[in-house]
Amino acid sequence: MRKFRNIAAAGLAAGALFALAACNSGTPGGDGGDAPEQEVAEDVVLEGSPTYDAMVDNGGPVIGVKEDQPNLGFLDATTGERSGFDIEIARWIAAELGFAEDDITYEPIASANREQALVNGDIDYYVGTYSITDQRKEQVSFAGPYFETGQGFLVAADSEMTEVSDVSDFNGMTVCSATGSTPIQNIKENFPEIDTAEYDIYSQCVEDLLSGKVDAVTTDAAILIGYAAQSPDELKVLDGLFTEERYGVGLPKDDTALQEFINTMFTEGGDEWQAIFDATLGQSGIEIDQPAVDPVM
Ligand code: GLU
Repeated sequence: MRKFRNIAAAGLAAGALFALAACNSGTPGGDGGDAPEQEVAEDVVLEGSPTYDAMVDNGGPVIGVKEDQPNLGFLDATTGERSGFDIEIARWIAAELGFAEDDITYEPIASANREQALVNGDIDYYVGTYSITDQRKEQVSFAGPYFETGQGFLVAADSEMTEVSDVSDFNGMTVCSATGSTPIQNIKENFPEIDTAEYDIYSQCVEDLLSGKVDAVTTDAAILIGYAAQSPDELKVLDGLFTEERYGVGLPKDDTALQEFINTMFTEGGDEWQAIFDATLGQSGIEIDQPAVDPVM
């Protein structure tokens, strides 16, 4: 079972914690910086990866993403532009595999449907605030981690709360999160006195918070910061981070050749990672170093 503790106490992600105070200065949509141009690799050699072979046969990858998470995975309905840290990571992987932007098909997949989409072969890989967990590893494999954050809480800006000392601070209140996500599982398993509301996507929780139907939205702080930046007069992220969420690239299970390819890319591509981060999530004031790849993922 995943442990609940205030990771602030452990000093983990301290940079991200400090950044929470400045969270309202972020750029909605995450397009405030210039994302690096990806150089499409030529003469790619990747043997033993059925997923890569399928991408080549189909003329490009189908990538599962989020599209309602500003600064992470966001689709601008007006321009049709996708932006955010996860989108740029997804594009970087595609470019290293030899595929240009025009070759990519993006598939929005909600939190609850990620494993099944990978198991079914509907997508070749998934990049969208996808925490590496043992339970998920029974069905899929992960490359990474490529980012770390923790569970936080978003409330109305005029709430008297400023910080969360323990998740049980929300006992008796209604907290909204996405179906199938680690934060909703954590609340349901460990905090039975908190009422929950859930939707497929977090933006619907945010709407309920804005209309006063729920008391808080809970998910990864990195996600919540993006929503607070969109509505700085109405919403705020509380101090206090819980759980450790390590984001991985979701892959079809046991495609170790593709997993190693992406892990090598992360390990050797520190400058690229930093450029992507600076152009996206870094715009919201978060400060965090690239985590080391964990080859046993
Ligand atoms: N990182 C958490 C998870 O993978 C929450 C964010 C999400 O639902 O994508 O469940």
